[in-house]
Amino acid sequence: VKLRDLGEFGLIDRLPTLGVYRHRSEDLLVDIGDDAAVWRMGDEFLVATMDTLVAGVHFLPGVAGWDDIGWKAMAVNISDIAAMGAWPRFALVSLAVPPETAVSDIEQFYEGLYTSAALCGVTVVGGDTVRAETPTITVAVIGRAEAPDGEPLVLRRDTAAVGDVIAVTGKLGDSGAGLLRLKVGVDDQDPLVQAHLRPHPELAMGAGAVVAGITCAIDISDGLVQDLGHICRSSSVGAVVRAVDIPLSDELRVAYPDDALRLACTGGEDYKLILVGPQGRIADLQEGLETADLAVIGEIIKDNYEKRVRVLDDAGKEIRFDKTGWDAFKS
Ligand SMILES: [Mg+2]
Repeated sequence: VKLRDLGEFGLIDRLPTLGVYRHRSEDLLVDIGDDAAVWRMGDEFLVATMDTLVAGVHFLPGVAGWDDIGWKAMAVNISDIAAMGAWPRFALVSLAVPPETAVSDIEQFYEGLYTSAALCGVTVVGGDTVRAETPTITVAVIGRAEAPDGEPLVLRRDTAAVGDVIAVTGKLGDSGAGLLRLKVGVDDQDPLVQAHLRPHPELAMGAGAVVAGITCAIDISDGLVQDLGHICRSSSVGAVVRAVDIPLSDELRVAYPDDALRLACTGGEDYKLILVGPQGRIADLQEGLETADLAVIGEIIKDNYEKRVRVLDDAGKEIRFDKTGWDAFKS
């Protein structure tokens, strides 16, 4: 079997079971397969995640500036901490680049990375620099979950229940549209391009959600349909989404009138949160927000086994997409 056939998520499912000697600490609360791991450290609960960006796969040098690449490498990791409802604190950065790389590119990269980190209160404390043919960036972020009564308040993928509502924390599809525009050379100050290059992690939303008693979330990295599908798979439930309720920006509607819904459902890299919980708790969160950028888009239903996430049009008919989102190994 080739990795291409197993796919990224088939691989992740198997990782905890490969080999017989994997040690599993009693202090571990959230294991492989969520946005981040959570473990107990004395009286504290630490949250940790790591992501790798590879040139040509995740970013295009020459198309995106090195400062934008640095910003995004940090922001996508912080987004995984936001998806746990936790606060990020420290980061480690590994940078693999060819020796021919201009030092000014590296300086720009760190400029963007440090700015993105600083905005979220993250201190970069170390890492590694190595030679490689293909520029590759790995960032790990460690954060802390609130635990007011000795139990950590975190957002997981496996706590969605039938009857829960599904909400998203902002407009979707701008990033996918921005990538299309970037590839045809649109000015990088364009708002859609900015949404793609410089995502802003939803830390306040994640932290607000745990306080409101919500326990289930994921950040949208691969695409709404696919990421909601991860929640459904982990929780053994299904989901219906009403296309008309998915929030779209005016810029997206104007730029891609025929493609806006597809970009919102499968474009990915929006780094907004999908929150799942009882209607009352979602409403509580909505009430506590200064800007009510929280939209209810659907419901959790009984497991439907075949197709976990269905997007419906006004007439209740299913809208199908060729691809549901990003998979690292399927092309
Ligand atoms: Mg994630």
